[in-house]
Amino acid sequence: MSSSLNHAFIPVVILMLFATKLNIKPKYILFLSIFAVLPDIDMLIVHRATFHNIFTLLIPLLGYVIINRQIFGIISFFILSHLILDIYSGGIHLFYPISNKVLYAWTEIRYGEPNVFNYGFSTDTLEIIKHGESIISSENVAVMLLLLMIISLIILKPDNRNKMNSGE
Ligand SMILES: [Zn+2]
Repeated sequence: MSSSLNHAFIPVVILMLFATKLNIKPKYILFLSIFAVLPDIDMLIVHRATFHNIFTLLIPLLGYVIINRQIFGIISFFILSHLILDIYSGGIHLFYPISNKVLYAWTEIRYGEPNVFNYGFSTDTLEIIKHGESIISSENVAVMLLLLMIISLIILKPDNRNKMNSGE
């Protein structure tokens, strides 16, 4: 199940890692990260449908072509990452409102049990999201602790960064 934190955290980290290579400003990544979570406001309308379909990408992609590549490129990536994460955790109504079919992918590699590779279209989202999605999962807390450890190390030892940079 993808928590709200995963929706923001995963694409932000990916973009941050490649910010220099992609020539995008880290402050834009942080400010625009709201778009990585935004599709879930359709919880108030038709969840995993209204803002969880392929058409949700049309406006940001149009903005990418016409207005600003950097800003709308980041927004498009955030929304696309949301859709992909949700396809793998219960499914989304990919072609809503044209079709109500749900695209889902369920893959699990398990210890001592048969692996699960299940993909396709169904009439509804999988049972796992019926009980509500978490905003911050227990696993997220562990990931945040790890991240805070690394950030603390970097902040407390700023000269480490200088050494790394000068070694290039
Ligand atoms: Zn969602």
